[in-house]
Amino acid sequence: MQRALASITRITELTPIAGADRIELARVAGWQCVVKKGEFRPGELAVYLEIDAVPPDREAFSWLWQPKGQTGVPRPDSFRIRTLRLRGTLSQGLLMPLAQAGLTHALEGADVTEQLGVIKYEPPAPSGMGDWRAAFPSLVPKTDEMRVQAVPQVLEELRGKPFVATVKMDGTSSTFVMIDGGLHACGRNHSIAEGENLYWHVARKHRLADVLGGSSLALQGEIVGPGVQKNPAGLKDKSLFVFNLYDTRTGEHLSDGELRKFCQQHGLMPVPLAFEGARFDETVDSLLQKAEGTYENTGNQREGIVIRPVQPMRSDVLGGRLSFKAISNRYLLDERD
Ligand code: ATP
Ligand code: MN
Repeated sequence: MQRALASITRITELTPIAGADRIELARVAGWQCVVKKGEFRPGELAVYLEIDAVPPDREAFSWLWQPKGQTGVPRPDSFRIRTLRLRGTLSQGLLMPLAQAGLTHALEGADVTEQLGVIKYEPPAPSGMGDWRAAFPSLVPKTDEMRVQAVPQVLEELRGKPFVATVKMDGTSSTFVMIDGGLHACGRNHSIAEGENLYWHVARKHRLADVLGGSSLALQGEIVGPGVQKNPAGLKDKSLFVFNLYDTRTGEHLSDGELRKFCQQHGLMPVPLAFEGARFDETVDSLLQKAEGTYENTGNQREGIVIRPVQPMRSDVLGGRLSFKAISNRYLLDERD
């Protein structure tokens, strides 16, 4: 499932904010968003832009970045919809009346990201990421996790089942797989040429050609360390934290237990366990609470958690493997460019 940065959504609830008479709180799927009082009615359709959405540089949106009293100010490069606290209330995303966004014909649930010209904010790419070698291997799914607020129905799919929540490491995604007897080291979007770069550094450090040699397994993990994002985990060397083992022959993911055993056998590090349980019984709010915490041996806020069943399961909601993330709001509120 792809993330819809702008969609047509029904406002399910509008509630007052204590001590505030000009704003109120709207709920959209699992998100909460502060709006101008009286601008929307419950049950109404509106355009919702998620956090990380970069709105088009157009009149209808320019008030978002325009200083009061000025016009014609172009959208700053780093501008995006962020997590805010307004009058002490968490606000995520932007709700806009359909007409204001220039939409006359709107279908509930429609993804209007492209239609509106909304793009996704990507943090500036770090150096040392290597050169393009080949497209991303088609026999391996790319790494991605949906946010629980965008797909709260996944909670029902997992309810009552044994589950594990792991710590979300804040680095860059990597995939390693043998193709025609040779190792491919890949970033999020393509295979990387062998050389002095992050991916091949990790491949050599952990002898991944030997680890994966002769097997049909793809190994996916987060590379974390100095120079990768802001290294909130405070690591001294670039390290790999494994979060997926996928069998390209059967098209199945290995279970969390199998992944941990494999890592132990090969001297690899799995992503740290945050918590686990025999019967999943969480809500959006309880998971957002539990997403908060610090990286081990640091005072730095962790990015969040990733939640999965102990035994891999298919999700109809996601149209793929059942797995989702809860990003810490403390982490998002602390974010500096
Ligand atoms: P979004 O989809 O919200 O726009 P994004 O595509 O940049 O954001 P991330 O927020 O980085 O994705 O979240 C998914 C990524 O998290 C995975 O691709 C993986 O690289 C990384 N990750 C880090 N720790 C874990 C973990 N414990 N389990 C699974 N994935 C993890
Ligand atoms: Mn994503």
